[in-house]
Amino acid sequence: CRLIQSKRGIFTKSDLQAALRPPDIHFPRPRLVCIENTHNRGGGSIWPMEKIVKIAAFARQDGISMHLDGARIWNASVAAGIPESEYARQFDSISVCFSKGLGAPVGSALAGTRTFIERARRFRKQFGGGMRQAGILAAGALFALEHHRDRLAEDHANARVLAEHVHGAPGVEVDCEDVETNIVLLRVPDGSAPVWANRLARNGVHVLSAAPNTLRAVTHLDVTRDQVHEAAGTIRGVAQELLSESGS
Ligand SMILES: *Cc1c(COP(=O)(O)O)cnc(C)c1O
Repeated sequence: CRLIQSKRGIFTKSDLQAALRPPDIHFPRPRLVCIENTHNRGGGSIWPMEKIVKIAAFARQDGISMHLDGARIWNASVAAGIPESEYARQFDSISVCFSKGLGAPVGSALAGTRTFIERARRFRKQFGGGMRQAGILAAGALFALEHHRDRLAEDHANARVLAEHVHGAPGVEVDCEDVETNIVLLRVPDGSAPVWANRLARNGVHVLSAAPNTLRAVTHLDVTRDQVHEAAGTIRGVAQELLSESGS
């Protein structure tokens, strides 16, 4: 596995080229490029289509397969106005998740060629993931697809509102321009993220301490616009509290 360092999780064809090891019997041969869209740790960033197309063309010519980790592809599609199928056609396989922003209780799906899926089914069985009663889960996933996909735009608007209202709170850095979908990354002083997350949780706002200097807030179908305003107020209040405690 070679991880490519990049801004907001989005790399270029040249980054990929630089990461590929040359043909050498000491090295494994590169076989697969994975892209995550939207990118979670990148702050819900959306991959520009032209970057994907260039990477896919380059990979194909080198006999390298393309996989899309599309756990949040619905967010990318709704925000960019590009159908999921347009993204998917650039890849050999794609995984999607129904239980994130889409709001189903459980469930992910894998798509690819018939032979690829037959092979995947074998692996699933081998690892104990086979399930005869999956229809009940599929029903929830279908409901989410039919009723919750288009409303993701509300989550995206709510995320921007959250960022705008938190902007300027002491000790917090947030770039409103970076909020493309339903994820808001808040930068806090290095090492303090767990303290912030604990304090916020005690006040009813649940965020993830994603790195020592980063909090991740996610908007979703269980959070209304009013609650977003309330959460922003709580974050500002905690910011003031931590500021005055550090001063005293
Ligand atoms: C959640 C997630 C997955 C896996 O989804 P499961 O439903 O646990 O299989 C894969 N990739 C990303 C980026 C995710 O956030």
